[in-house]
Amino acid sequence: MKKNYLMTPGPTPVPEDIRKEMAKPIIHHRTKEYQAIFKDVTEGLKKIFKTSNDVFTFTSSGTGAMEASIVNVLSPGDKIIVVRGGKFGERFGEIAKAYGVEVIPLDVEWGSAPKPEAIKELLAKNPDVKAVYTTLCETSTATVYDIETIGKIVKETPALFIVDVISGLGADDFQNDKWGVDIAIGGSQKGLMIPPGLSFCSVSEKAWKAVEASKLPKFYLNFKKYKKAMTNTDTPFTSAITLVIGLKKAIELINSKGVDNVIAEHKKQALAYRAAAKALGLDLFSKSPSFAVTAISVSSGMNADELIKLLKSEFGVTFAGGQEQLKGKIFRVAHMGGIDEEHTIESIKALEGALAKLGFKFKAGAALDAANKILKG
Ligand SMILES: *Cc1c(COP(=O)(O)O)cnc(C)c1O
Repeated sequence: MKKNYLMTPGPTPVPEDIRKEMAKPIIHHRTKEYQAIFKDVTEGLKKIFKTSNDVFTFTSSGTGAMEASIVNVLSPGDKIIVVRGGKFGERFGEIAKAYGVEVIPLDVEWGSAPKPEAIKELLAKNPDVKAVYTTLCETSTATVYDIETIGKIVKETPALFIVDVISGLGADDFQNDKWGVDIAIGGSQKGLMIPPGLSFCSVSEKAWKAVEASKLPKFYLNFKKYKKAMTNTDTPFTSAITLVIGLKKAIELINSKGVDNVIAEHKKQALAYRAAAKALGLDLFSKSPSFAVTAISVSSGMNADELIKLLKSEFGVTFAGGQEQLKGKIFRVAHMGGIDEEHTIESIKALEGALAKLGFKFKAGAALDAANKILKG
């Protein structure tokens, strides 16, 4: 059978060693055996987030933890700043509105990163803001934000700093504690190499004070329940046992290399892709490109969705398309998690093959050469 290369920014390929762990007979979660696994996972996640704060694991896709970061620290009528520069920033705003929280948007052109100064001004104008919500990597536009600088600004105010690192974690640099992040939100199906179904929140001391004051309704995602269960290295409800067992293996793979080395590998793949795009005469969509995912604009006259379809049907390579106003205009290639050098090389070969089939003119082999120079260099 022809090999398939899943290159989407979630889900990402699940390495064989992890799949084998998840194929073992299930165990019960209220046992010493499972508690030891869950303890290792929680400690391992702290290393990847670079935090000494609590990290909680929820059974949900990433959006569940985004919702948790709202319902646990806010009250009806509270004001928050939300950076909206793509689909995921917008989602924070949608969740907040669903709970009757007032959103002060910082709208950023898709593909651009927010200017930290703009956040500083909004905070000065609205001293009663309870939290700033933003994203490390805005996956829909493949754009990385300057979380370090924004963190310094928010730290000077009473507001919490809440960052969605779901796609960026393990590919873009992220330092939870050093950068003053109060809640960081992670997900399982991106850099962490397991299937969808787990999400995570790190929670700072400053955030705990807000938890005590929060009046929004919550039950399943109530941080206090998770904190209480954690004293016994347990979860308040049935754990997603199989996924947590897979995650233990994934964390071992990441932490045995060291998260910084993992990030360096993905950075190299991202740089190889950027060089390949340049060799093809194609532009990056983002003005602040991430190392977790690359968005490439197709030339006028070409439909990115047709290219994606052809890559899937004839080359076994799956890319992601553009969302909303970017539909048909860009394709997105991920560099996170189980996506490795082989994926990068094979998908660039396929990209050349598909572009040639669509009648796009370029020097054959140029993209592969440009990528190889970076990967082998
Ligand atoms: C994938 C992703 C999410 C979560 O989406 P789910 O489908 O709920 O897992 C949230 N934010 C970002 C930046 C993402 O890339």
